[in-house]
Amino acid sequence: MPLLTIREFPDPILRQKAKEIDPLDPSLPALVRDMFETMYHADGVGLAANQIGLAVRVAVIDCSGSRDPAAKLVLINPVVLVTMGDVQEEEGCLSFPGLRGTARRGERAKVKAFGLDGQAFEIESGGLLGKALQHEIDHLNGRLFIDHLNLASRAAMEGKLKQMKRDAQPVGRSKARA
Ligand code: ZN
Repeated sequence: MPLLTIREFPDPILRQKAKEIDPLDPSLPALVRDMFETMYHADGVGLAANQIGLAVRVAVIDCSGSRDPAAKLVLINPVVLVTMGDVQEEEGCLSFPGLRGTARRGERAKVKAFGLDGQAFEIESGGLLGKALQHEIDHLNGRLFIDHLNLASRAAMEGKLKQMKRDAQPVGRSKARA
C-alpha cells in the first residue's frame, strides 16, 4: 500500500472546504487504508483527506498509535453536533511539521458521522480523542489549528508561519517526502 504525500501549510487545499462523499463509494476502503498507513508512518493521531490532497469529507483517527485496533476511527461526512466546556492545550498538526502551539478547544465534543459500512453513528469524547475529533473535522472545513491559538502561541508562531509561506514551492512542483 502506498504512503500518501502529506500536504503542508500553506498548501491551498488545506483551506478548502471538503465535499461530502457517498459512504459506500467503492474507492473509500483503499483510501482509508492508505490514510491510516500514512498517519502511522508520520506518527500522527489523525489525518483528514484534504491533508493528502483530496477535498472529500473523510478523516481517520487513532489515539492509540496503532496499538489498539479498536481505537481506529473512520469518519465519513462528520459534523460536530456540540462541544462542551473549554480547554487550552498544546496541539500540533502533520501539515505543520515541528510546530506546536496552545489551542483553545471544546473540552468535549459530540460528533455524528458515517462509517465504511454506510451506517451513521455518534461519538462523544473529551481528552485527546475529543481534541482530535475537533481538529480533523476542522480540516474538512478548511480550518487549521493555527486559527485556534491563544495570543501567546500566535505571537510565538508568527515568524515561523511567515517563513513557511516564503519557503513554499511554486504550485506544480513535487513536495513528495515519503
Ligand atoms: Zn492537522
